Amino acid sequence: VAAVSVRDVAHVYGRGGSAVRALGPISLDVPAGEFLVLVGPSGCGKSTLLRLIAGFDRPTSGAVTVRGEVPEPGRQSGVVFQQPRLFPWHTVGDNVGLALRYAGVPRAERPARVAELLDRVGLSGTAGRRVWEISGGQQQRVAMARALAGDRDLLLLDEPFAALDALTRERLQEDLRRVGHETGSTSVFVTHSVDEAVFLATRIVVLSRRPGVVTLDLPVDLPRT
Ligand code: ADP
Ligand code: ADP
Repeated sequence: VAAVSVRDVAHVYGRGGSAVRALGPISLDVPAGEFLVLVGPSGCGKSTLLRLIAGFDRPTSGAVTVRGEVPEPGRQSGVVFQQPRLFPWHTVGDNVGLALRYAGVPRAERPARVAELLDRVGLSGTAGRRVWEISGGQQQRVAMARALAGDRDLLLLDEPFAALDALTRERLQEDLRRVGHETGSTSVFVTHSVDEAVFLATRIVVLSRRPGVVTLDLPVDLPRT
């Protein structure tokens, strides 16, 4: 069963004269374990598609399912935005632990799970640091750990590295590729950087802003390190 299924999905914001056709119609299956990258120009509907998969919005027409279910925010997937959106005055561990609490993980199990999640994103030993003390790149790693909390094996990322400097971005891309390709999690990643797409993706989908233009769907078969 596909991790994500998008069937004849179109999305329109607003009504009547102010209606904005934002996406589609588009159909897409994301098999489990795939690292799908959505690319395309600004305004082509990338964020909209991600929001529909996250369950933040319901599509105007068509159907989105995640592991066969209608998506609910925070249930099947974790989302990483361009800005990390953490609690800055709390510790790194508390930020991740809170996500585990929301996911229903018993208190006694949380410290070990926090350590394990931080280890996965390259942040071992930082649980006691305050968020405001760590760098922007480290904060984005915390956001990734939080998104993976509670066995949500679908990671949705909306230009997560766009605000970072080039060196930090490259490090995070390498680590995210490792997380995505080694742990068997499924990822849908939005970017307008073709370079980033080619580095991360096992498959690239190119959206167009023009209705009726065929969406390009490219399997990527690059040597993996
Ligand atoms: P992308 O992520 O590819 O830049 P978006 O999904 O953000 O594209 O936007 C697609 C289109 O929908 C754009 O024309 C955008 O202005 C419009 N749009 C996005 N969100 C809203 C919203 N909440 N209300 C109205 N229009 C929106
Ligand atoms: P990003 O490119 O980082 O996703 P955007 O500026 O495209 O940020 O969008 C930020 C938020 O504003 C999103 O929730 C998007 O849906 C919404 N948005 C985008 N375009 C419009 C629009 N024309 N009208 C209202 N909301 C919009």
